[in-house]
Amino acid sequence: MKILIVDDDSLDRKLLRRSLGVSEGSFHKITEVSSVTDGLEAINHQRFDVILLDYRMPEIDGIEMVIEMRSKPKLGGTAIVMISSAEDPKLALDCIEAGAQDFISKSDITQSKLDKAILHAKKRFEMEQKMHESYLTVKQMAEKDALTGLSNRYHFEETLKVTIDNGKRLESSVALLALDLDDFKNVNDTLGHEAGDEVLKEVVKRVSKCLRSNEGFARIGGDEFAIILSGIESINVVNVIAKRISDTFEESFVLNGKEVHCGVSIGAALSPLDACGAQELLKCADIAMYRAKQAGKSKVCFYEARYQEEFNRRFSIQNDIANILKHSSFKLFFQPVCSTSNRDIISFEALIRWPNNDNNYPPSEFIPIAEESGVINELGRWIIKTAIEQLREWKRLKSELTISINISPVQLLHADLADYLDKVCELASIPSHDVILEITETALFKDNDKISIMLQQLSLRGFKIALDDFGMGYSSVSHLVNYPINIVKLDKSLQSTEPNDGKRKEIFAALSLMLKRLNFTVIAEGVETEAQLKICEELDVDRVQGYLLGKPSAPEYIDSLLKSDVLDCMDAG
Ligand code: C2E
Ligand code: MG
Ligand code: MG
Repeated sequence: MKILIVDDDSLDRKLLRRSLGVSEGSFHKITEVSSVTDGLEAINHQRFDVILLDYRMPEIDGIEMVIEMRSKPKLGGTAIVMISSAEDPKLALDCIEAGAQDFISKSDITQSKLDKAILHAKKRFEMEQKMHESYLTVKQMAEKDALTGLSNRYHFEETLKVTIDNGKRLESSVALLALDLDDFKNVNDTLGHEAGDEVLKEVVKRVSKCLRSNEGFARIGGDEFAIILSGIESINVVNVIAKRISDTFEESFVLNGKEVHCGVSIGAALSPLDACGAQELLKCADIAMYRAKQAGKSKVCFYEARYQEEFNRRFSIQNDIANILKHSSFKLFFQPVCSTSNRDIISFEALIRWPNNDNNYPPSEFIPIAEESGVINELGRWIIKTAIEQLREWKRLKSELTISINISPVQLLHADLADYLDKVCELASIPSHDVILEITETALFKDNDKISIMLQQLSLRGFKIALDDFGMGYSSVSHLVNYPINIVKLDKSLQSTEPNDGKRKEIFAALSLMLKRLNFTVIAEGVETEAQLKICEELDVDRVQGYLLGKPSAPEYIDSLLKSDVLDCMDAG
């Protein structure tokens, strides 16, 4: 065993050497020094198994050597037995607390006691080291993301707090970038989670190359990353770094020989400009990132105060939707769809209305929010059930009526939509062919196999499919061919509003002729004037819908309308 004796008293050193029961060259290899300075010098150059360290020395006390060693891991790899002339339990405790493993008083020293103290100290030291190693592993696990080796969210937030505080002290700005991969779910869904993991690792490699160090780079969620940039002198610097990061995503990722494109949306916020606290800054960067996504993805967006208002509005709408749904207090309005030739009501389109008069949000605002949060599935079910039950009531007054229900693309992705529609129709004794499901082209542009299969299923079960708002977006003819569409609704933007609106008139005429030729039932939306209705008649458009024929109205109003129709018929009869 290699033993270092640190004691200023040569007699005491001799006593120790004797008590170790050895002389020069025997089993123990002993080095002697007479001061803490020499002791530190000795352990700097060679490793010892144990140090026998005198507590009291003239210049520097032994306990200070313990403290010095334990504060420097490089010096620390040795067990220490403190030796003192005083027999003081408090002193012993101080030495142990400072990092020594055992304590023995000089008056107590015998060969066997010293041997025992050395062995105990060695064992105890080994155990302490093992505990320290497991502590480090646990700490690493708690702070690091296992897949990428970056900091995790918890550690990141701590680092952000410290960096912001330092920034305040140094009066310099801190920037926070929030990164979210675009359509990463698609990679996972189509290529599997292992491929997804590879993309995440490659992302870390690419982004790291754009940064000075990985210190403030963390993975804070599945496909979410955050970066702290400290000592920022101008927004331009942040912009340059963010753009550089964004550019590295232009190159596609190659996974098992397959090329996958995956972009990134980046939100940036600055402290103290946008927020002073870590949580607030994270929120601002998140809001900016969300804007970047909304602006069409693969974008960099800096936080602006007005985003907060928009975000709050969206957030409160999202919360309100859930609450209103809980109390089933949304309203469904119904708008008549009439035969063009005799204006007879053939059908009603169900249109959702916000119930609260203080905040009259239009469906064009709250439906996309419901889609994004996923609550549209529940809301959609309520709409389906309410509309079909309403049709049952009205069929008592007019048996040939049908109902049109708008279905969001998100609902089409829900596998049990067809079963749910079947169940509601069965309970209400409504045949499926009396239910028209209105979908928009955006659903078809997703070109998702699931949507195609769902539409086929719905069509096979007898539901009619209407393509809504045709002529407003892409109006792809291939959609008309590839999907089981029965009805096409020509968007209201195709209606001419002025007499010499020649081009629009021609487009409307050409589209309706083409659709008639392809045997679709054609409905013109947004018919507001007699002149527009006349054009529809001339073009033999099947059905018309619009303010001229009737505005979307509460069911009570439609009730009285249908009842008065019945009475009129009876009178005429
Ligand atoms: P949409 O399905 O194309 O519905 C027709 C929209 O045009 C309705 O707006 C209706 O009020 C409006 N409209 C009807 N006639 C006229 C007219 O003569 N002139 C003008 N200028 N507008 C007319 P609304 O109710 O605000 O709904 C807007 C959109 O929100 C709907 O367009 C539909 O995409 C969506 N939406 C409405 N209700 C629901 C629903 O229950 N579920 C789903 N998923 N979406 C819905
Ligand atoms: Mg519609
Ligand atoms: Mg429409």
